Parts: sequence; C-alpha cells; structure tokens
Amino acid sequence: MDTKIQWIKDELDQLQQSGALNRIRTIGSAVGPKMVVDGKCVLNFCSNNYLGLANHPALVKAAHEAIDEYGVGPAAVRSIAGTTELHVRLEKKLAAFKGVESAITFQSGYAANLAVFPALVSKEDAIFSDELNHASIIDGCRLSGARIIRYPHSNIEGLRAVIREAAGTYRRGLIITDGVFSMDGDIAPLDKLYEVAQEFDLLLMVDDAHGEGVLGTGGRGIVDHFHLHGKVDVEIGTLSKAFGVVGGIVAGNPVIIDWLRQRGRPFLFSSAMTIPDTAACLAAVDLLENSTELVDRLWENGRFFKEGMRTLGFNTGESVTPITPIMLGEVTLAKQFSSELFNEGVFAVALGYPTVPQGKARIRVMISAAHTREDLDQGLDTFARVGKKLGVI
Ligand SMILES: *Cc1c(COP(=O)(O)O)cnc(C)c1O
Repeated sequence: MDTKIQWIKDELDQLQQSGALNRIRTIGSAVGPKMVVDGKCVLNFCSNNYLGLANHPALVKAAHEAIDEYGVGPAAVRSIAGTTELHVRLEKKLAAFKGVESAITFQSGYAANLAVFPALVSKEDAIFSDELNHASIIDGCRLSGARIIRYPHSNIEGLRAVIREAAGTYRRGLIITDGVFSMDGDIAPLDKLYEVAQEFDLLLMVDDAHGEGVLGTGGRGIVDHFHLHGKVDVEIGTLSKAFGVVGGIVAGNPVIIDWLRQRGRPFLFSSAMTIPDTAACLAAVDLLENSTELVDRLWENGRFFKEGMRTLGFNTGESVTPITPIMLGEVTLAKQFSSELFNEGVFAVALGYPTVPQGKARIRVMISAAHTREDLDQGLDTFARVGKKLGVI
C-alpha cells in the first residue's frame, strides 16, 4: 500500500462506516419518467429533466443532423481556432428568447460560474452572496479572490445590513443569488434585490439554473418571471436541466458578455459545448418558442403532485416551484424511505447534511412535464404505502 494515499483510504473507510459514502446508481436506458436504474425499471423522480427534453425526438434529431454536417467536437478553444456557426446561432437565439441583448455559452453552468466572477471582481472587491447559494457560485466567487460576504437567505433587510457594514471597505461590489433554490424550491426575491442593487450601486447577478425553462413565460427564466428585463446585469444559467442537454449560459449586458469573450477563463482555456449539444439546445429553444405546452404541463404536474402529497399528510416544505421536498427530519429515516421507495420501483433521492441543514433531511421529488397522470398516481400510491409503513403519515 502506498503510504502517501493511506489518508484517502482512511477517509473512504470512514465514509463507508458512517453510511455517508455516496454509491452512485447506474442508468441503463435513456433518461425519462421511467428508466432503467441498476437493472430495474423505475419511476424517475430524481432528474432535473423538467420538460422531458433529455430524450425528446426533436432534440435527438437535431443532434443527429448536426453530427452529419459538422462532426462531433469543436477540436479547440473558440478564441483560438474559431467558433462554429451553431454556437453563434445558439447564443443569439438564447439572448432573443430571454429578452436580453447578449449571451455567451460555456461547457456547463459550473463553468459559467467559474468564468463570470473572476472576470468581474478581484481582491479589492466584495461579493454579497446568499448563504444558501449553490456550490458552483461559491467556487466561482472564491476563485475571484474577492471578499465574500454572506447574507441571510433571501433576507432583504439582512442584506442591507451587511452592505452597510461593509461600506467603504471595497472597490466594486455585486450581489449574487440562486434564482430557484433547489433544495427547498423557493424563488429568490429578485425584484427586491434589484432595489437594493440600485440603492447601493451594486451589480446584480442571478444563477437561474433551476429557473431556466421553468420560470417566466414559456420558461424564459427568473428575469422574465419578475419582469426585470434589462435590469439584471448578469443572468447565469444551465442548459443541463430543463433544456435536457449540457452547457452553461451567461446572458445580459452586452458589455459584460463581450468582456467574458476576452477574459472568461473557461471560455479561453477549455473547448466549447460539443456540436450535438449545441444543435440539441437550438432545437430546445425552438420548442419553447413555439409553445408553452411543456412548461404549462410541468407546473400542472407539480401542483397535482404537491397537492396529493399534502392530502396524504406529508410535509412538502416551502416550495413554490415543481421541486417537491418531502420533509422527514432525520437522515436515517430519509435514507430508509428512499430505499423502500426504490424497492417498490420509485427512484427518489434522500438528501441530508451537509447538503441540507442538520435535522432537515428530506426526499426530493423532481417533477417533470414528461410524467403522465398515471406516473404521478403511482408515485403518490407508493409514497403513501412507504409513509404508512415507516410511520411518517
Ligand atoms: C445545477 C446548477 C449548476 C450547475 O449546472 P451544470 O450545467 O450542471 O454545471 C450551477 N448553478 C446552480 C444554481 C445549479 O443548480
């Protein structure tokens, strides 16, 4: 045994013994409302496939056709070897869809976050960050070297207080929040955050990963939801959730987007989204532009399932989006609940500390437009059975 890595083995053993080792299940089919997981066909409540686009025929066809015409990979970073017309078209189309002047794509939402903060702020600057912001936001902020000042979750007066306290200690400042907080399904008060940003002359940024394709008219996102067009400086998003593909986006002020093409490090030093990704995303925007049907069905399904769970006596927390947490308290109960569900053919993940606070463990159900009424009924029946067996309801 190599003693230099003994410590890693010890850590892994420790995780294993405490039951915290993450065992990743294997998917053996296309991602959809029903899929094969660890060799078993289950009802899927785990994916962020809000609109069912991950295996949508229109996206699959667009990806096939683009591969036939352009091949598969971009073969170098865009700033050196040029960018494909598909990428250019996607960025223009996304900007128009979202009602902003400009947009740039990245390899993922995570990469978008690593690009945007270091390009905009550095060590003399301050970032006012919601305490529950996503890990990729936190990593992007850390990479910038700016001082990170956390404010209490979605608390406007708390934010004002920390901004006042920091007055005079920084050069430039920005406010960053998740759009939809994915653990609880609540929406950031972006309209009020805009007022604070105005008041203190700060940039306003939102990471709308779980709102992209979900919030706003036909899935145009949180800025559209609050009618704040032209007022939010930077909107970060992902093409890996509702869009069903993979990729990241930064949309907003064209000066900032131009700057990211010059200084966004994941843009400069990492190859772009692949050809099929890009073509599939173009097809996704087409679908959303042509009809609000999928987005409407997502919300209808979310309402139906949440109501059903509440009627059964489950606590579905504070969610105002199709994300449906089933609050269970102790992580051991949540894990047991999840594994009983899986035995009964329902795939829904248990989340515990440190992903959510101690004592607030839960099962998180991700509703999709692709779920049929029968799927949702099956889900409700199974939750009812397991809930009774474990004494939750
Ligand atoms: C999921 C998520 C990301 C990461 O997006 P990827 O495209 O999967 O890298 C970034 N930010 C937030 C808020 C997210 O929820």
